[in-house]
Amino acid sequence: MIHDARALRPGGRITCDLCVIGSGPGGATVAALAAEAGLKVVVLEPGDYITPGQMNQREEQMLPRLLWQAGARMSTDHGTRIHQGKGVGGSSLHNLNLCKRVPPELLERWHRDRHLEHLPPAAWGPLYDEAERLLSVTSVPAEAWNRHNRILQAGTEALGWRGGGLAHNRTGCLGSGFCELGCAFDAKNNAAKVFIPRLMKAGGSVVTHAQAVRLDTRDGRVRGVSAVIVDAADPQAVGTLEIVAPRVCVSASATGTPALLLRSGLMDPGGETGRRLHLHPAVVVAGDFDEPVRAWEGIPQTYECTEQLDFAEGSDKRLWIVPAFGHPMGVATMLPGHGEAHAALMARFAHMAVLVAMLHDETNGRVDPDGDLGLTIDYRPTPPDRRSLAEGLVHGARLLFAAGARRVIVPMFPSRILDRPEQAAALAEVSIDPGTISLSAVHPMASVPMGDDPRVAAVDSRGRHHQVEGLWISDGSLFPTSIGGPPQLSIYALGLHVGRQIVAAG
Ligand SMILES: Cc1cc2nc3c(=O)[nH]c(=O)nc-3n(C[C@H](O)[C@H](O)[C@H](O)COP(=O)(O)OP(=O)(O)OC[C@H]3O[C@@H](n4cnc5c(N)ncnc54)[C@H](O)[C@@H]3O)c2cc1C
Ligand code: SF4
Repeated sequence: MIHDARALRPGGRITCDLCVIGSGPGGATVAALAAEAGLKVVVLEPGDYITPGQMNQREEQMLPRLLWQAGARMSTDHGTRIHQGKGVGGSSLHNLNLCKRVPPELLERWHRDRHLEHLPPAAWGPLYDEAERLLSVTSVPAEAWNRHNRILQAGTEALGWRGGGLAHNRTGCLGSGFCELGCAFDAKNNAAKVFIPRLMKAGGSVVTHAQAVRLDTRDGRVRGVSAVIVDAADPQAVGTLEIVAPRVCVSASATGTPALLLRSGLMDPGGETGRRLHLHPAVVVAGDFDEPVRAWEGIPQTYECTEQLDFAEGSDKRLWIVPAFGHPMGVATMLPGHGEAHAALMARFAHMAVLVAMLHDETNGRVDPDGDLGLTIDYRPTPPDRRSLAEGLVHGARLLFAAGARRVIVPMFPSRILDRPEQAAALAEVSIDPGTISLSAVHPMASVPMGDDPRVAAVDSRGRHHQVEGLWISDGSLFPTSIGGPPQLSIYALGLHVGRQIVAAG
């Protein structure tokens, strides 16, 4: 059953075998597996249960329903905007469906550096195979690549760079282009479509508008969760709920999870919780083309340029380049200028191709709780990360010119508009700081990195908290480092792993 907490008696108590906090890829997977193994499972989710029929393709209505702070969550220095989803399914509701495995060299390094005895590199292959099968992951056929993606392909090939098509978890996709606002056609094989029905069938429940605020622990064991009933539009606590459970799995995302663990005051000898956040921060550049691009039509993000991404240890190639998808509001907030100058750029909306260069980042950001309902994110890129992001502007501009852009627009202050490819190299000198350029991030991760040494890590490679019996973590927080690519497939794989560990632990 799906219950709306606002219809429950405030101050009420729910008893279950496992409480899962958060219903995104990490939480939904664990919840389904545990319920199928016979546990009574209750999932808490602050957002709405949004059905495909309610995905009305209106930016101004869907973004506040689908995203925390309506998409305006910012780092404390206002330098990075962090997009994170809410609602049953978490960020998988509105994400762009790209699925990619973490490369073996990174898995080997994790194993070497973090002693992941319960999740060695060889264990990932079967987990990925299973996740790909469950999510029906397939390569998007080249015939379905839209002009926006073909522009990136053309630029990549013209420069003789490395690139190729991407795999997605969609079935029956009509190419409407509205993925980021949720799929009205139920074509996304996401957490809400694949795992929540399995949870329901096995007798589990989801309580929407319920936000965990503290983990209740005593004598080194978790006893349950203190939660509040929230009004989704503008989270305000309108009541309390108590969940009594001998097992709790925190899957509140790489920001929500460390905020909750820290607010709960759990022991953490290594002090890593919330101190190693990675974001894949990104810069964007826009190309203005003579022929219409109409980037909003068709499937977004089907082609990647991997020339600037190399996972060898110490490599300074750490940029993953894909087309940036944008509906009119999103593009308008990104383009520089005001008044007539801004209107003149927006008049070229249909002719624009926008590329995003995402960084496989080394910066350790910080998450802290802010009162009972909020959190803060402190993220200031290190000098090497800033240099790489500036290089991202250069590479994006070169790709767009190579694909035939008439001019390239760099959203920064003061804005730069380039009309010749030779001008691209100078972008390497752009100062990546909040006063000059805004970064965006859609992949928070690695904020409670797993590791088997309890003196270092808070959570082991089963997803089990080292200090609190019965407490588990399953979400993007667990990655030991940034992963340099789309994370959801690996989070589903982790969910399968952690779900089985919870069941096996009894
Ligand atoms: C615009 C966009 C596009 C993306 N595109 C892709 C893509 O194409 N491919 C890809 O691999 N990844 C993509 N991602 C990222 C991907 O969606 C996330 O990495 C993934 O969903 C994270 O899964 P998770 O389970 O860790 O957390 P989430 O999906 O964030 O789920 C966490 C859930 O916990 C809930 N929660 C938070 N705090 C609490 C609390 N205190 N109590 C109870 N519940 C709580 C949240 O509301 C949320 O529903 C994209 C992200 C964005 C923003
Ligand atoms: S492009 Fe496909 S997956 Fe995206 S919203 Fe349209 S039908 Fe759904």
